[in-house]
Amino acid sequence: MRAYNSSKLTLSLIVAGGGMASSATAQSTGIDQASEADLALIANFFTSADVVDGPILVDCTLSGGTETTCFSITVRPNPLDYTPGPWCPTNISDGADKGGIWFLEGEAVDVDGEFIANLAETYGDSEWQLFDPDTGDVRFTGTLEACEAAARPDVDPDYENYCVQCLPEYMPEGATITYVIPMKPFPVLRGTPTNFGGSGVALNGVRLDGPAPVDAILGAHTIAPFDDCGGHVNTHVGYHYHAVTDCLHGTPTTLKSADLAEVAKEGGQIGIAMDGYPIFAHLMENGEEPEGLDQCFGHETEALSYHYHAGSAGSNQILGCHAAETGCVLVEGQTVCDASRRPARP
Ligand SMILES: [Zn+2]
Ligand SMILES: [Zn+2]
Repeated sequence: MRAYNSSKLTLSLIVAGGGMASSATAQSTGIDQASEADLALIANFFTSADVVDGPILVDCTLSGGTETTCFSITVRPNPLDYTPGPWCPTNISDGADKGGIWFLEGEAVDVDGEFIANLAETYGDSEWQLFDPDTGDVRFTGTLEACEAAARPDVDPDYENYCVQCLPEYMPEGATITYVIPMKPFPVLRGTPTNFGGSGVALNGVRLDGPAPVDAILGAHTIAPFDDCGGHVNTHVGYHYHAVTDCLHGTPTTLKSADLAEVAKEGGQIGIAMDGYPIFAHLMENGEEPEGLDQCFGHETEALSYHYHAGSAGSNQILGCHAAETGCVLVEGQTVCDASRRPARP
């Protein structure tokens, strides 16, 4: 644990340690109360992530205005355990191995050549034409410029009827994201759950995002597939998930003194929500749905304190909402987490 007694000392530590800028906001207040053991639990949880800095303890202001201690971890948004992709098939003769998945009527379905070929029929709209009728070649975004023009909310008309994919290599080299998450959750009043930006962060350091804007994407006659692990790339945050699939699994947990067998029974912890509660897999180890989930997809069991279960892969909802005040996702250049200043998303 790093504790800072004066701003002068803080500055010298930052220079000496090359630490992240957000450390500058850390002060001794509150930090002494959090234990080394809690931080070690978090560090252990993220061993499969591409960690650039942290986890360290910092002061933070949560979405509800609570001032408390958060952990801060800076990661590159690339999973180390597999290579992301593919997303768009290149020809309507391609099989499911050449494409990713898409959400259709609550299910995750393969984006293979046949899916692309049948879009007009699937959506009952004859304007769909994502492929060249002569060659069967799929029209997909093949450059950074094309992916940015097609992925923005007001899709460039030139990219209507495109399969949209941005590649990880379009990201600035060394791009990082910093998650600032409360060490201890501060529940919001019952019936007033919040949902600020992303849902949380997965154990491999990849962002667990909020719902993808599927209606807007389809409205422009585009498809922006996720890979089989539920992730795709945008040039603002890099690779991120809109679905939790069986790509995410692990044995570590951030739940203090939890029985690991009980954690496994609940399906295993796959991430941490922005409010500090753990996120578990969609299904239990025995393949059954967890019982008694609230509107945020959370519950408390006899063996484990409050935790979420990710929504099903095709639901476009990793969490229903946050049951407690959320921390911050900081991009490079941002140093202080004050989530209370950000407007709530409707
Ligand atoms: Zn996305
Ligand atoms: Zn559970």
